Amino acid sequence: MGPPGVGKGTQAKRLREWLGVPHVSTGDILREAVAEGSALGKKVRGYLETGQLVPDGVMGELIEERLRRTDTAGGFLVDGFPRTAEQVEILHRVLQGLHVSLDRVFVLTAPEAEIVRRISGRRLCPKCGRLYHIDSQPPRAAGVCDGCSAALVQRPDDVESVIVERLAVYQKQTLPVVAAYRGQGIVVEVDGSGDAEAVSARIRSELGSS
Ligand code: AMP
Repeated sequence: MGPPGVGKGTQAKRLREWLGVPHVSTGDILREAVAEGSALGKKVRGYLETGQLVPDGVMGELIEERLRRTDTAGGFLVDGFPRTAEQVEILHRVLQGLHVSLDRVFVLTAPEAEIVRRISGRRLCPKCGRLYHIDSQPPRAAGVCDGCSAALVQRPDDVESVIVERLAVYQKQTLPVVAAYRGQGIVVEVDGSGDAEAVSARIRSELGSS
């Protein structure tokens, strides 16, 4: 968990390699649906474009379907869910049905100035989902994905007007969710500033110390 642009996607992708478990990113699933123009994509497009949260009912079905797939049997990493109190309940119910519980909730933090700098320089490969930053994590050739040579894009919700809205939505709807998990003693706050490797090392040391 953590505000938009704090590095959740980058860290989850690194952790996925390290732990060998699938990375379930609700944002990635929704963006793919929008790109494909599927029924789900058509339903959620407006929310993503304006930085609003997709309704809990839609998200509940999506996360349940995803977590029930067999590839999650050895564990999984959820990124971008839950984001509301209702979604905490939904996740609890789905996990109970799967007879598993959350081991940890990592909360990444960073100063707002760094968040805005990261989001505005962020670039995404629309084909393989790889993330770049024009200053701190540039591709080898400007504007082109190192892995699959597709032209990199900026997420449409990474423009300033939408960033402000996403930060406000995080403060209002998602921060209280962190408090709910804090009560269960599974929250680990991690300083998300600095380069990606330094942040990964902090997360790995927390996991290693269990
Ligand atoms: P993210 O990539 O996690 O920043 O998500 C991008 C956008 O997808 C958000 O601004 C929301 O519009 C939507 N979204 C992703 N995850 C959720 C969620 N758990 N609940 C509601 N909307 C979501």
